[in-house]
Amino acid sequence: MSDRLTVCVFEGDGIGPEIMEPTLDLIRVLAERRDLPAIETVTMPAGAGHYRDHGVALPEDSLAAAREADAILLSAMGLPDIRYPDGTEISPQIELRMALHLYAGVRPVLLFGQPTPLSGRDALDFVILRESTEGLFHSHGRGTMEGDLAAEETMRITRDTSEKLFDFAFGLARQRAKSGRGQGRVHCVDKANVFQAFAFFRRVFRERAVLFPDVEAEAIYVDATALWMVQRPEIFDVLVTENMFGDILSDLGAGLMGGLGFAPSADIGDRHAVFQPCHGSAPDIAGQGVANPIAMILSGAMMLEWLGETHEHAGLVAAGGDLRGAVEKVVRQARVRTPDMGGNDGTIAVCEAVRRALDLETVG
Ligand code: ATP
Repeated sequence: MSDRLTVCVFEGDGIGPEIMEPTLDLIRVLAERRDLPAIETVTMPAGAGHYRDHGVALPEDSLAAAREADAILLSAMGLPDIRYPDGTEISPQIELRMALHLYAGVRPVLLFGQPTPLSGRDALDFVILRESTEGLFHSHGRGTMEGDLAAEETMRITRDTSEKLFDFAFGLARQRAKSGRGQGRVHCVDKANVFQAFAFFRRVFRERAVLFPDVEAEAIYVDATALWMVQRPEIFDVLVTENMFGDILSDLGAGLMGGLGFAPSADIGDRHAVFQPCHGSAPDIAGQGVANPIAMILSGAMMLEWLGETHEHAGLVAAGGDLRGAVEKVVRQARVRTPDMGGNDGTIAVCEAVRRALDLETVG
């Protein structure tokens, strides 16, 4: 690999820049100290504010820069008051997933010391894998209206994308089992009892499962999944599902892990990947310096690990793990907390605490 990696950065809207800047600082600190390849960042415009000011949400140059980069780091985009003429919100992150075919939306659900609404539980560790390019989002921006009487959107499930998605899911379960984190099990989450598209989704799942005999393959309906995520979350390891179901279940997952401020994500394709917190731009707290940066920092950690894996660079993988470890330490200690974590500290204070935790690890 080259000694230089490029990350395309989208600071986005609302709290986006407030959580992105300190996260980039942490990544730079790690890169300098660990003798990692230089990580060059290219910040590009996109989002609701850009649409308001320039009439375009994802400029062509921004998409081109994302395509050329080794990875894409995105904070949050969209503002409720700025909308397209059809009433939908500005969401270039969805356009990016479609344009770069980022079919595998990885949404870890993990407890690392933060309070969960599930009473009596202190451990959760499973992953929701959300297909991110088709399903009910297929007609995104192209839904049809019958005058003012009806509206229609189309769900599309393709064999090609589903096969890639399921292979990714089984590979992830295999990897988690190897590292002692999972049970080597994949649940296909669908509504195959009602919709042909989901019966097809489940059929392709069964076909691909045969190629991974060491991984257990189960199928489950989405409504039961919502119930069991609350009542029996320990049965889950990797859950793989359609785009819209994944959108909803990953917010439920974020709720179980203490709130949106803790939930990182990655949208991964064959060549490109976007790393982004699960939350939106939180305009209600923007500009106050109190946004929780944990989900953003953990997304940065996932990016370092993915870059390390795809470029076969063990140092990058280790750096990602150390960044996550430092975050977990800060959350467990619970000395520095933003208001959503039950404290009175600001974004920068939490980032500084993470940096101190990293310092201790580096110094030994
Ligand atoms: P989107 O549809 O763009 O995902 P959303 O409608 O789910 O966005 P968010 O912007 O994620 O809404 O905000 C939902 C709630 O969670 C808001 O009250 C917001 O302040 C809070 N929230 C979101 N992210 C954070 C964060 N990082 N720190 C603290 N609070 C947050």
